[in-house]
Amino acid sequence: MRRAVHITALGTSDAFNGGGRGNSCFWVEDALGAYALDFGPTAPLACRRLGLRCDALDAVYLTHLHGDHIGGLPGLLIDLCFLHRRARPLTIGGPVGTEGRVRELCALTYPGVLPGALPFALRFVEWPLRGATEVAGRLVRSFPAQHDPAVHPTCVRLEAPGAPAVAFSGDSGWCASLVEVSDGADVLICECSYPTYVFDGHLSLEELARERGALKAKRLILTHLNDAARAAALSAAAALDLEVADDGVLFEITRGGPDDAPKNTQRPLGAPGAP
Ligand SMILES: [Zn+2]
Repeated sequence: MRRAVHITALGTSDAFNGGGRGNSCFWVEDALGAYALDFGPTAPLACRRLGLRCDALDAVYLTHLHGDHIGGLPGLLIDLCFLHRRARPLTIGGPVGTEGRVRELCALTYPGVLPGALPFALRFVEWPLRGATEVAGRLVRSFPAQHDPAVHPTCVRLEAPGAPAVAFSGDSGWCASLVEVSDGADVLICECSYPTYVFDGHLSLEELARERGALKAKRLILTHLNDAARAAALSAAAALDLEVADDGVLFEITRGGPDDAPKNTQRPLGAPGAP
């Protein structure tokens, strides 16, 4: 029997914090533990606001290496180092080039602290643009995304034993990989930056509406929205059979079925428990 996966949206904006929402990050709890999908600059703040202890994370999975998807990592590492005094390892998974880019980021932002001084093991696992790679006990199926090639963009589907499969587009314009990553997924978290087409490196609701039938995930949740895209997506949600993420919303993902209505709840701000 598969257990539910719980996904809390920590950041659902585009790169520009549209509507005051946070940068890309999702907190996921499955049968193996807790992990983050992307870790944008606002992720540490979102954890604190929602009472999520970042020390609970076993791993962080990065779809690509743009700042609004990885910029929270230095904050996470100093938090684990000084506030939580973490001893157990942390795994950072991402596309090819992840280890070098993250180490550079940390060395530039906290040069006296992070390079080599962590009291816990920081493990890196990189995946190819297309492949299947085990990362912290989960199988990551990666597909090349239609986005800035300098940041090795991937769409990913995470499969853990006993858990529904979670797919995430990362940043991507419309491409065949979105169809592939959604096939077999219990949920696809998909970017939707604009209401109408702007360029081929990001997806618009207009394109999504045209291609909706090709996405086979049991649930479709939109994220990485600017304000206009979010308004348009909310208006079209029922017609396109999709949901629209917002910061702080907790999604319960089950295997799905005709009797399984989505259960989404808003996590309260300032929940106790986070140091
Ligand atoms: Zn990007």
